[in-house]
Amino acid sequence: MKLIFELGVEGRGMTLMPECDVPEYQLPEERSEALHLPHVSENELTRHYTALCKRIHGVNDGFYPLGSCTMKYNPKIDEDMAALPGFTQLHPLQPIETAQGALEALHTLGAELGEVFGMDAVTFQPAAGAHGEFTGVLLIKAYHTDRGDTARTKIIVPDSAHGTNPATAAMCGFQVINIPSGVDGCVDLDALRAAVGPDTAGLMLTNPNTVGIFDKNILEITKIIHDAGGLCYYDGANLNAVMGVVRPGDMGFDCIHSNLHKTFATPHGGGGPGAGAVGCKEFLKKYMPGPLVVKKDGKYGFAYPEKSIGRVKMFYGNFDVVVRALTYVLTLGKSGIREAAMNAVLNANYMRVRLKDTFTMAYDEICMHEFVMSLVDLHKETGVSALDLAKGMLDFGLHPPTMYFPLIVHEALMIEPCETESKETMDEVCGIYCKLFELAHSDPETLHTAPHSTPVRRLDEVGAARNMVLRYQFA
Ligand SMILES: *Cc1c(COP(=O)(O)O)cnc(C)c1O
Repeated sequence: MKLIFELGVEGRGMTLMPECDVPEYQLPEERSEALHLPHVSENELTRHYTALCKRIHGVNDGFYPLGSCTMKYNPKIDEDMAALPGFTQLHPLQPIETAQGALEALHTLGAELGEVFGMDAVTFQPAAGAHGEFTGVLLIKAYHTDRGDTARTKIIVPDSAHGTNPATAAMCGFQVINIPSGVDGCVDLDALRAAVGPDTAGLMLTNPNTVGIFDKNILEITKIIHDAGGLCYYDGANLNAVMGVVRPGDMGFDCIHSNLHKTFATPHGGGGPGAGAVGCKEFLKKYMPGPLVVKKDGKYGFAYPEKSIGRVKMFYGNFDVVVRALTYVLTLGKSGIREAAMNAVLNANYMRVRLKDTFTMAYDEICMHEFVMSLVDLHKETGVSALDLAKGMLDFGLHPPTMYFPLIVHEALMIEPCETESKETMDEVCGIYCKLFELAHSDPETLHTAPHSTPVRRLDEVGAARNMVLRYQFA
């Protein structure tokens, strides 16, 4: 397939702009180089992007079980609401008397998610999950600094954490203390007890963790940290298994982020706008980024927390993402949110049980919203790796699960079906996984060289990551 710059004919194009009726502005010399624009008609342009579209696999195309990513189907009504002109045509600097509806949307979602999180204040400023972690850990830092306790320089992160957790702690200037998980996939309590001390600023925990297990010692974990004077941060990027069922605030956590672009109905995967909603307990509220939306005498306005860590993003975050999440939460209602979580767990366990006689499960117990298989045995027996099997799935039109993550499981495939998949879809997918398992024994070569039916075959993934070519190289 040709790139857009390789299409068309010099001089062809389209002019949608009206004749200029204001004095022309002379660009500065250094910006006056002719623009490299593709010479295509509207027709060619449309066909080009439609063709590209057909090569992409998204949630609207089919099953997308990317573990730790919650690629669920997002109801279209959420998009409709986010596209209402009353929301899209707002200007962030217009007088707040004229934007009361938008402020009400922020305020209402803050209250709804505060209830789901078990937290007292919520901000939508952070643009993504990792950005939310950054904000939350800065709250922890501000809390210790404010008390004059500058000895707390360490953040504890279990080895089953999402990779962004240690990265965030380091970004915030903390030393990362890694602690191991036990054979049951839960935090090793003895290792945790040995790691805490007067230098502990806090703990960052993903729960359910990245192997899909809800830590059965969760209350003991938060107690150990609190007894040592640290605070507890909950990575709730994926709240799909717990929303409406249990609340991180009740588990003893002091602050949390959740990805609205995973759990709360904003499509993601293309790097588009997201939001890391950050919630905290009352005692941390005074450090929150400002402004927060407040309601006073029936009117909405802004307030800056007394000891705010400052802004983490312009204005109020990605507002359209907030509108989608609000629509999602209000259309489901309290019981619907709980039911979605239950179905996410049910679906994951359905697939886990259907597959466990064929594949080796990393942890053979009831999982939450996702589970991890280890293909170590299959690899030893047949030479077919998790990567080979994942590539083989492409020939069946399936999007593979997350591969080689979490790092603590070798030859890992991590499957998260989500609540929005039907039994029929999961049956079909399990059937294909088992067929590929057989193929690994009968014809491993076909899997070593898969995919066979895609526009491109095996890519040099390391090369692509190391030598990125992100723009067209004009001759
Ligand atoms: C996705 C994810 C993150 C990071 O979210 P981004 O929006 O990609 O920055 C953090 N923690 C967990 C557990 C996640 O699944």
